[in-house]
Amino acid sequence: MEDTVIEKKNKNQNDVIDKIVSLSKRRGFVFQSSEIYGGLNGCWDYGPLGVELLKNIKEEWWKFMTYRENVEGQDAAILMHPRVWEASGHVENFTDPMIDCKQCKARFRLDTLAEQISDKKKEKALMELSQSLNEGSEAAEKLGKLYQQGTKDAEVISTAFDAVIEDKELSPLLLNKLNCPQCGNAGTFTSARQFNLMFKTFIGPLEDASAVVYLRPETAQGIFVNFLNVQSSSRQKLPFGIAQIGKAFRNEINTKNFLFRTREFEQMEMQFFVKPVEDKQWYDYWKKERLEWFKSLGMTPEKLRYHDHPKEKLAHYAKEATDIEYLFPFGWGEIEGIHNRTNFDLSRHQEYSGKSLKYFDEEAKEKYVPFIIETSAGASRSFMAFLVDSFYEEEVNGEIRSVLKFHPRLAPIKAAVLPLVNKDGMPELARKIDDDLRPFLKVFYDDKGAIGRRYRRQDEIGTPYCITVDTQTLEDQTVTVRERDSMQQERVKIDELLTYLLKKLNSK
Ligand code: ATP
Repeated sequence: MEDTVIEKKNKNQNDVIDKIVSLSKRRGFVFQSSEIYGGLNGCWDYGPLGVELLKNIKEEWWKFMTYRENVEGQDAAILMHPRVWEASGHVENFTDPMIDCKQCKARFRLDTLAEQISDKKKEKALMELSQSLNEGSEAAEKLGKLYQQGTKDAEVISTAFDAVIEDKELSPLLLNKLNCPQCGNAGTFTSARQFNLMFKTFIGPLEDASAVVYLRPETAQGIFVNFLNVQSSSRQKLPFGIAQIGKAFRNEINTKNFLFRTREFEQMEMQFFVKPVEDKQWYDYWKKERLEWFKSLGMTPEKLRYHDHPKEKLAHYAKEATDIEYLFPFGWGEIEGIHNRTNFDLSRHQEYSGKSLKYFDEEAKEKYVPFIIETSAGASRSFMAFLVDSFYEEEVNGEIRSVLKFHPRLAPIKAAVLPLVNKDGMPELARKIDDDLRPFLKVFYDDKGAIGRRYRRQDEIGTPYCITVDTQTLEDQTVTVRERDSMQQERVKIDELLTYLLKKLNSK
């Protein structure tokens, strides 16, 4: 009987993340790190299917970014000279404001505390704060400018709340009016302290201040310090880029939402070196290119958007910045940042190292420090976005089919080979097909259970094609090929199968 899809369900319901976390564990995408010891917060392990998906995402990025004439690849060490992080500003500025609950010891990032507080509670706290201040006092006047008592508009209240909590003077007063989101007690917060997110360790046998090194919090600095090495060895001329994929580590105060904010993660970064006067043109170019990349791999266009940073909120090094955001079930979240970093990084490394990082422009016959346009994507955050985006639950013939509609180039397994029954020479023939495809494609052999169940198992992990050896195969050397999303079946000759699959897999 033909399968009919009656209904799409559960897209974007609140429980989607729970379902995905559970599916990830059950089918071997992602496991909690050190699970048998109770897990390690903010760290995750990629299982057999997860490692394939992650590798495919990185490979697609690598091809898209570096198979161009003007982008080179590199792979710098995770540990770098500690002066790098002084020059970059990370030792001084890579901090988050942190508060603790004195009662239950829970720790929160001050700048994201608002996410855990309802609009009603925000309004109540602002009202109480307003009533507690002496009329005419400096604090009352300041609050009056940020918050108009009596307003009921949730967005206005939220904006006022954010502004008050960021204000040095008003922040501790507002914290006093709030209840801890974890234990519910009021007035238990410490005042905010700056917390550096870099992991420290020691190089060599001595554990003293002179031996401190950091686990890199971003891959970018490894590119900046190699700018002239790469440029001169590859004989590139401006504009050109350097790309790198690698691990980064941040001692995040609050890890949350599965792979979204973790303490160890992977980045896919490209730094594009340009003439200072061409910065805007290349910023716009890469902004467009990067959004297209996510779309080209099947991510739902309506769930992607730019979030341009307002000028007053730009990082210390940036002239212009945007985030590419994805609409996760918990709301919009950044998956990639695109920044015009000006000549900040190279100038600082020049200053701290005492080595010139100027580029000699042969045409203009002048030396200058290039500007940098950065594209910085999280591989693991993109992994999560692709996973969430492809997750569907559909009602098919009265049953729920759970399916991951990965783009074929991202799918961990490209095809499953299934003998209809385990007799009449079908397994032998299926094994032969499996052997012939294996050198070219990641395939999976499955002869356990009813054919419908086997199809569902493949749907659940996103395998785009199922190849079934049946009675007709024995007669005419053809197999059925079932396509995951449409569930349509086609008969294909065995000796044309590899070409057929390669064409289909690479056609999108
Ligand atoms: P956020 O504001 O979410 O902390 P960020 O602005 O600090 O992110 P960048 O420093 O621009 O992020 O890093 C570039 C990319 O690296 C992000 O777009 C994201 O995809 C990824 N990334 C950053 N921090 C984490 C993390 N803790 N866990 C997973 N991925 C991360």
